[in-house]
Amino acid sequence: MKGDLFSPTPRFLWPGGAKCAVVLCFDVDGETTALEHDAALRNRLTTWSQCAYGPTVGVPRILELLDHLGVPATFFIPGYIAENHPRMTGTVATRGHEIGLHGYLHEKLAYLDQRQEEDILLKSLEILTRLSGSRPVGYRAPWFELNPWTPRLLQDHGLLYCASAMGDDVPYRHDCGLIEIPGQWMLEDWEQFAFNADPAWGAPPENCGKVFDLWWEEFEAMHAFGCCFVLTLHPWLSGRPSRVRLIERIVRAMQNNGDVWFARASEVAEWFENNPQARRETDLDLIPLTAEVRS
Ligand SMILES: [Zn+2]
Repeated sequence: MKGDLFSPTPRFLWPGGAKCAVVLCFDVDGETTALEHDAALRNRLTTWSQCAYGPTVGVPRILELLDHLGVPATFFIPGYIAENHPRMTGTVATRGHEIGLHGYLHEKLAYLDQRQEEDILLKSLEILTRLSGSRPVGYRAPWFELNPWTPRLLQDHGLLYCASAMGDDVPYRHDCGLIEIPGQWMLEDWEQFAFNADPAWGAPPENCGKVFDLWWEEFEAMHAFGCCFVLTLHPWLSGRPSRVRLIERIVRAMQNNGDVWFARASEVAEWFENNPQARRETDLDLIPLTAEVRS
């Protein structure tokens, strides 16, 4: 019918007849945000304290909010942050959330060789396993950027999924077979809220109402298209009061919208692993030609 809203075939089949999946990710970069920039920032008490706000104030507040809303989340924690905030790390796990890997000092992979990257992976795996009580199955690359060898490295060390690439809006597989749960820069809080005067980071903070509109419009369409909505938040940014209200408002709106599967990233990966037919391929160069098209 003319004027009907575009409603394509769903990209993915989700459990229980849900129309889309929502994965709430909290990247607990904390003080590594300063340290990876310059170790001397440890002596810049205001910059340092802004970063430390994440693990010390943001995470406890977000954990309470998640309880209040009754939704699970995935926390990607650098090894350094876990070592320096061990009870915060243990509490995230005991409250039922997933903990995934996120480097040791939030190192940018593009500046590491394969051996250095593997050493950091093994070191952070050991730390998070010890402090969370279970071995992580997922990985989020710092700054989202992967090296060509990273997916295979993660697979060789027994990880189930990576949540770093941006090649789709539903789960897919890297060439080596590792599951990817893709994100995108639009659904990230750094661009919206990060700001530091000196050293200069980010831009003047956005208004939460504007950010709600940006994220909600993407959610509404992803819901209609059968996608996987992966929201990436940093507790030192999104643990601030008005932004916690923003998370509350958008999750409530999603819950009221209905047919949403709120899942840990590991649950999404397991669902795909066990239901490979859930994904509908769209790359025309990968879909086998039908007899009809061939003739
Ligand atoms: Zn990060």
